[in-house]
This record gives sequence, C-alpha cells and structure tokens, in this order.
Amino acid sequence: MPTKFVLIGSGLAGGLLAAYLGRRGYEVDLYERRADPREGNIVGGRSINLAISTRGIHALEQIGIADEALRHAIPMRGRMIHDKSGTLHFAPYDVDPKKCINSIGRASLNTAVIEAAQRYPNVRVYFNHKCTEVDLAEPTCHLETDTGKLTVRADAVIGVDGAFSAVRASMQRNIDNFQYDESYLAHGYKELTIPPASDGSWRIEKNALHIWPRKSFMMIALPNPDGSFTCTLFWEFEGPRSFATTKTDDDIQHFFDEEFPDAVPLMPTLLEDFRNNPTGSLVTIRCAPWYHRDKVCLLGDAAHAVVPFYGQGMNAAFEDCVVLDECLEKFANDRDHAFAEYFSRRKENADALADLAIGNFIEMRDKTASSAFRAKKKLDHFLEAALPGVYLPLYAMVTFSRIPYAEAARRARLQDQILYAALITIILIGVLVIAVLLGHS
Ligand SMILES: Cc1cc2nc3c(=O)[nH]c(=O)nc-3n(C[C@H](O)[C@H](O)[C@H](O)COP(=O)(O)OP(=O)(O)OC[C@H]3O[C@@H](n4cnc5c(N)ncnc54)[C@H](O)[C@@H]3O)c2cc1C
Repeated sequence: MPTKFVLIGSGLAGGLLAAYLGRRGYEVDLYERRADPREGNIVGGRSINLAISTRGIHALEQIGIADEALRHAIPMRGRMIHDKSGTLHFAPYDVDPKKCINSIGRASLNTAVIEAAQRYPNVRVYFNHKCTEVDLAEPTCHLETDTGKLTVRADAVIGVDGAFSAVRASMQRNIDNFQYDESYLAHGYKELTIPPASDGSWRIEKNALHIWPRKSFMMIALPNPDGSFTCTLFWEFEGPRSFATTKTDDDIQHFFDEEFPDAVPLMPTLLEDFRNNPTGSLVTIRCAPWYHRDKVCLLGDAAHAVVPFYGQGMNAAFEDCVVLDECLEKFANDRDHAFAEYFSRRKENADALADLAIGNFIEMRDKTASSAFRAKKKLDHFLEAALPGVYLPLYAMVTFSRIPYAEAARRARLQDQILYAALITIILIGVLVIAVLLGHS
C-alpha cells in the first residue's frame, strides 16, 4: 500500500505540496476549511496580489507549472518612491534590468497549484472541511463539515494550514517542551484600490512596486492584470494618528490628502474601501520542532509566519515544498529522518527570514525616502557589476538567488563590514594625504 498523507490547508503551499507528493506516488487527501477558490471565495482581508521571485518560481518550475502559473504575472523592475510632494524616484531592484519580482494574483496562483495537484489521480481535494484537532500518535484528524463531523486516518499528517494552524495547536498541546513564540507588529494593514483608467490601462507605472514611505508608516501598491493596483496601507493600530483614531470620512480624507496627495485623485473608492475592508494584523511565528516522529509535520506559515515586507512568506513556503520533497526522496523509507532533515535545513533559514522581514519594514517605510539610501543602492549595484559573483547585495541574495536565507544574512553582514572598513580606510588615507600636503605647503 502506498503511504497516505493527509494535508490540512489548500492555500498556496498546501496545493503545491499536494502536487509534489502526488508526483512521488503517495496517496494524498487534502482538506481545506474554505470553499473552492475557483468559486470566487478567496480569503477576504488577505493580500489580493503578492510578489513572487526566484525561490517561488523555482518551486513552480520543478513541478512544471511555472509558465502556466505566471501567465498573467506582471514584472516589477524596481521601487517607485512617491514623496509627499508627488515627486517620483525609481530605484531598480538590481543592476541587471532583467531581474525583477512579479506581481501575481493570490486567487489565480492558488487555483494553479490546486489544479496541478488534481492532475495526479492519487490526489484528492476536499473543500469545506475544517480540521479541529489532530491525534498525533495515530495520526488521525478530526474534521467538521456543514453536514457533520468525520475522522480521517493517515500515515502522516502535514499542517499547511497557515499562521493560525490547527495542526500546530495540537502539537502545542501534546508535545512536551514544544517551543512557540508569536509576536505582533504595532502596525496593521488595510487594502485599498487604484482602479484602471477608462481605457483599461494602468494609471501609474505598471512595472514597478510603488511605495509612499512616510517614516513610521507607508503605503505600497502592486499592479494587477486588469489595469488596477492593489494598495496596502501599513499603519499603527493605536496612537494619536492611527487606525484607532481615524474614524470619520473627514478623518480619512484629511489623512490621505495630507500624506498621499498624488494617490488620492487615483482612488475614487478610497472612503468606501477604507470603511469596508478589514484591518489585518502582522504576525511573526516561530516554533520548534516542526514535526512529531514520522507522524506529523508543519510547512509554510504554519511553521514560520513572517511579516510581508521582504515579499518572501509564500516564496519561503514554496521553498519548503522543494526541500521536503528532496528529504522524502533521500529517506524514502524513513519518514522520521526525512522530517528531521527538512526541519534542520529550514528552521535556521526561517528564523533568519523573520528577522530580515522586520528589518525591511524599517527600510521600506523610512529609509527608501532618503538620498543616502539611494546612494547605498547605487554603490551596491556598482560593486555587484564590478565584482561579479563576489559582491552580492542582500536584496539580490534574498530575492534573486536561492542562497539559504541565513547564509545570505551572514554574507551581507560580512560584506558590509568589509565595505565600511574600506571606506574608513579610504577616508583616513585621504585625511593623511591632505595633512601631509598641508604640512609641505
Ligand atoms: C498583506 C500580506 C502581503 C503578503 N505579500 C507577500 C508577497 O508579496 N510575497 C510573498 O512571498 N508572501 C507574501 N505574503 C505571505 C504569504 O501570504 C504567506 O506566506 C503564504 O500565504 C503562506 O502560504 P501557506 O499555504 O503556508 O498559508 P495560507 O496561504 O495562509 O494557507 C493556509 C490554508 O489553510 C486553510 N486552513 C486554515 N486553518 C484550517 C483548518 N483548521 N482546517 C482546514 N483548512 C484550514 C486556510 O483556509 C488556507 O487556505 C503576504 C502576506 C500578507 C498578510
């Protein structure tokens, strides 16, 4: 009998993992609490579009669906910074203009991975099935549907059920010394819209990720294939000027007129969107271990939710699928070892990404507005071009390579130390030369 996996959650990583496991010949039953995304029931309040880059694309390529999934994706070649006066500054992501991140619709990507999984006859997907509990020892999953409850048994259960994972909650309750840490940013987010122009075109530069950096908060916008942009305002929940204190239409209008004057004329549904769209929270989750013997395992946000500022949460979840697949191949008859190796290869990197993502929030909302930031980016690109393969900016390592996140962070720290030491040495030599010249005159 082939091994049977039960997967909980058919979000982005659940669908992709089901395809990988299906390709390996396992029996796979995937249970999702929501309705089929093809029926238009995509999660309200989550990001409508996301940035997919090298790691995520590689995972799609490995299963042969990259072209199909990226059919409607829109390349974004750099950041378009909008200052308060409406002046624009474009900062390319890389010295190579071909390197870009891609804006992709969550719903269409979710559909692409689920359909890829369903092409394997040994994969079955059940919507409207909510997991409430997992018995780790068996393992069995307890599920609720509109018509009643059921219990399913498997050789292994994988929790791909997102940041508030029910599978992880069962592990927390039943594994001694299970480590768990969740921390929320003081900022929440709200999605708003810039609709297409009357001829269906994009009303601001299509091939860029737009940022309105305002020091302690910011708004960003990513393009959609229909000519619209989805804007996301990241703003403090509480405080003198915050979501909490901005209640009336006048408050909202006043805040936007003051902070984002060039965007306001492009947002005819601003007040409606602001009132009707939920305010989401931003959580980082770290836990350990991500597995229990050969019975239960966690993947994607269920194991390591990160804040979205590096655009890597889904990319990292897709990379998890590749690594778990490699581990299951390496230890084909020893799932316990496969899960252990997967955990040891991914944990350090997930922790590093969590730190990088928080760091990038400060960079995006505050530093991108400064000329020092733009000068550092230019220096990065100069050094990358001058020292190919030797100097790689952190952003390029995270976004355009598959260098493990932890190694990228370490290498960037070392590069910065060398760079700053070199700059100080150059300045000291310059001062010395001037002093000597002055001494001679
Ligand atoms: C505002 C925002 C912007 C983002 N932008 C980016 C970006 O640009 N690039 C990027 O790479 N990442 C981005 N992310 C992160 C990305 O959304 C997540 O990392 C990614 O969705 C994780 O995929 P997942 O499959 O692990 O979890 P999810 O996508 O959350 O899927 C989990 C699935 O499990 C289901 N589920 C949950 N509980 C149960 C249960 N009890 N029983 C059954 N099913 C259940 C859910 O309904 C859902 O379908 C962003 C996140 C946010 C919040």
